[in-house]
Order: sequence, then structure tokens, then C-alpha cells
Amino acid sequence: MMNKKSIPYGKQWIDQDDIQSVIEVLKSDYLTTGPKIQEFEQKFADYVGSKYAVAIANGTAALHASCYAAGIDKEYEVITTPITFAASANCILYCGGTPVFADIDSKTYNIDPNAIKKNITSKTKAIIPVHYTGQPCNIDEIHKIAQKNNLIVIEDGSHALGASYKGKMIGSISDMTTFSFHPVKHITTGEGGMITTNNKRVYERLLLFRTHGITRNMDLLENKDEGLWYYEQLDLGYNYRITDIQCVLGISQLNKIDRFLARRKEIVRKYNEAFKHLEEIETPYQDESGNSSWHLYVIKLNLDNLKIGRKEVFNALREKGIGVNVHYIPIYYFPYYQKLRYKKGLCPKAEDLYEKIITLPLYPKMSNEDVEYVIESVYEVVKKYKV
Ligand SMILES: *Cc1c(COP(=O)(O)O)cnc(C)c1O
Repeated sequence: MMNKKSIPYGKQWIDQDDIQSVIEVLKSDYLTTGPKIQEFEQKFADYVGSKYAVAIANGTAALHASCYAAGIDKEYEVITTPITFAASANCILYCGGTPVFADIDSKTYNIDPNAIKKNITSKTKAIIPVHYTGQPCNIDEIHKIAQKNNLIVIEDGSHALGASYKGKMIGSISDMTTFSFHPVKHITTGEGGMITTNNKRVYERLLLFRTHGITRNMDLLENKDEGLWYYEQLDLGYNYRITDIQCVLGISQLNKIDRFLARRKEIVRKYNEAFKHLEEIETPYQDESGNSSWHLYVIKLNLDNLKIGRKEVFNALREKGIGVNVHYIPIYYFPYYQKLRYKKGLCPKAEDLYEKIITLPLYPKMSNEDVEYVIESVYEVVKKYKV
């Protein structure tokens, strides 16, 4: 082989105009707590169609703040999926609550509403569905369950910026929706996150949590006559602020979201077309109620048609310089969760899926040449080891 390829599974796309916008903020008066925060929040809220948006340090902080605003504490259980990044469950633990893992739907790989129902107890307070790979969950069913049982819904929309469910944008639907701007996500601010909501009281709680629990908002102060210097700490919050440097990058990136999404879809079409008749792998099933934003492209191996296992296929692709990955290891497999006494066998469908999946590279800046190379490599590996 000539030049050894190195194709990551995901990556940002930064142009000269992104860089220029950051330089301008660096030359301005405000590096943080300045005007770019609200500008980014407003543009983001307009894009997803929510009343409010709160920009925050990262996607994990967005989940933590949401659990706080939902009132999660040690009295409560919160239901989520095991097939997600650890942060979707860690945020419950941060607030003292108990994560409860509900199994997935074996077609969409998203949390299964029937499994949610089975896990509801008198302590259940909220549900955190995750739109895995960008494909929206069955939100109507989840809302029905939530309404019936008086539960709060926090969508983890880290994969789903630009996705929609029955014509409604993700971010506009539930009590809260969180987003991440890590470089592998749809748009990036380096580190960064956002929470959207339509509820003013929730919005105020999120703002409070982002800045130490401190407020200057006259409506919220207990003593209103102290003086202009006066502020109050009303609760225990954190410093989860995001900088103007990051927010201006977010604004610049958000301007390009349509192009980013279209390119992701185009690559997915190429993969789907190429793998359509390959018996050794299953391409991602898409339910017609949702329109995915395609954060990840995950193939499922038909191990019955292969002489080798997932690990060998994975290693063979890595050998070829393809930055394949596995999304995700069921959260409760981790030693930390095992110590909390979550038992293996809890979610059989999630565990079965985990044995068979591989994430292929997918990001808007990926060249057609690289897409072709990934396709050829997958063909080569599975054909070599087909039964
Ligand atoms: C990326 C991600 C997060 C965390 O976001 P950070 O910005 O990295 O903190 C949470 N949940 C899911 C599903 C993610 O993919």
C-alpha cells in the first residue's frame, strides 16, 4: 500500500470564516458573559423552534442542568437507554437519582416505550430518551407514558441536531432537549452544549444552575431593596458557563447546518446503496415517523454469515486505516455501574446489539474518495470471511 489511510469516524469542519469570527471576538471586550452567548442561544432556539435555549459548557453539563431543573434527587428514579454515551446516565447520578435502564427496540435501536412502561415505579420522575445515531425515538408513545405517569421528558438530542419527528424539529417537543457541540457532533464549539425548553420556569432554573445558583433577576431575589451591587445565591449551582469565543464559533457553524446535514445524508445514501445486497451486514433501519440527522452510521454484522467475529472485522478495518468505532458499550457493563450492582442480562436486546455493531466513518468533510475506500474495504473484509 502507498500512503496509509487514516479516516476517523467523525470530525469537525472548520472554514476560514469560522476562524475569522473567533478572531473578532478575541479582539472584542468580552471573552465570556458577553453578547455572543445570547445571540447563539437565540439563533439556536429559532433553528429548532423552541421558546428558550441555554448555552452551557458541554453536552454533559446540559444533561446535568436538565436533571437539576427536573428536580431529580435521591428520592427518584430516571429511565434511560443503555445504548448511549455514559453521560446520559451519569447526569442522573450527579443529582443523586437512580438510573434505570430500559431495553431497546431491536429495529431502531432506540429505547422501547414498552420497556419504559415495565420499568415505571412510584419513584420514577423522568425519562431520558436518546435519539441514537440521529434517528428520533418514538416520541408520541414516550409522551403518552409520561403524561399518564406525570413524568418529565428530557431528550438527549446530542445526535439529533437537525432531526425531526413527524415534522417537528427535535428540540421543540419535550420539557427539555439537550445538545452537544463536541467536534464529532453536527456543529462544534470545541466543547459546548445547549438545552432547549418552552417552559419559562425551567429556563430560569437552567440559568441559575449554569452560574453557581446565583441570580440578579429582580423577580427571583428574596431581598429586593439591597442595592445595585446585590445578587443572591438561591441554590447550589456550578460554573458551567460557555465563552463568547465558543458561542461565536457556534453561530458561524449553525449557519452551515443545512449543508452539513445534506452532506451526511448524501454519504449515507452511498453506504446504503453499496451495502444493500451484502448479506453479511445489516444497514440501519429507519422508521418513517422520523427524519434522522445522521450523526452515526452503524452497521450490524450478520455473524451467522461470517467466519469471524465482530472483533476481527473491526481489527481488519482498523488495519486498513479506517477509524471504526463501537457505539455503544451498554452503560451498565462498566465497572463503575457494576459496583452499583447493575446486573448483566438486564437489557438482552441491547446486549445482543452490542456484540454485532460497528460504526463506520461519517462526517460532512469526508471526501467521496474516502467514502469509496470505506465501502471497498468493508466489501473486502466481509467477502474474505463469508461463510
Ligand atoms: C456527545 C454526547 C454527550 C455528551 O456531550 P459532551 O459535549 O461530550 O459532554 C451526551 N450524550 C450523548 C448521546 C452524546 O453523544
